[in-house]
Amino acid sequence: MLQSEVKYCIRCGTELESAYHMGKERPTCPNCGWMYFPDPKVAAAVLIERNKEKVLLVRRVNSPKKGFWTLPAGFIDAGEDPARAAERECLEETGLVIKATEILDIISGQEHSRGAHIVIVYRGEVISGQLRAADDVDRARFFDKNQLPPIAFNATRKILNQYLNN
Ligand SMILES: [Zn+2]
Repeated sequence: MLQSEVKYCIRCGTELESAYHMGKERPTCPNCGWMYFPDPKVAAAVLIERNKEKVLLVRRVNSPKKGFWTLPAGFIDAGEDPARAAERECLEETGLVIKATEILDIISGQEHSRGAHIVIVYRGEVISGQLRAADDVDRARFFDKNQLPPIAFNATRKILNQYLNN
């Protein structure tokens, strides 16, 4: 019995079987030989500070960690530049047009079943726009660094602990 979300060959529709290949049991098509290699889900996040005192956070409307706060972030589309993904997600969630200026960190380790396996974290600068929450967050605001709200994820906590300017 295969423990995989993919049950049928995406090329020919035959039910997949397990076959040992490259060090692992992998879902494999007995008809055409297609093999399922799961790809990591990759997200981009952005750390935006204001006057070295405040940091931009957004409040999640989806489970898990609904009502908890995190950095503006989202999945990178196939073929999309990660920096553009960070800028796009920030605009969608906060209304702010930003520029991703440098990579701060790359975090691995999926924290929940619908989460990313890899998060590329940028520092960003606000270019324009009006702060307003949308998309999959219901609030977006700058918090004083000494008075942060409940934080959603370990990855968010790590970034805030390590990279906030003092
Ligand atoms: Zn097949």
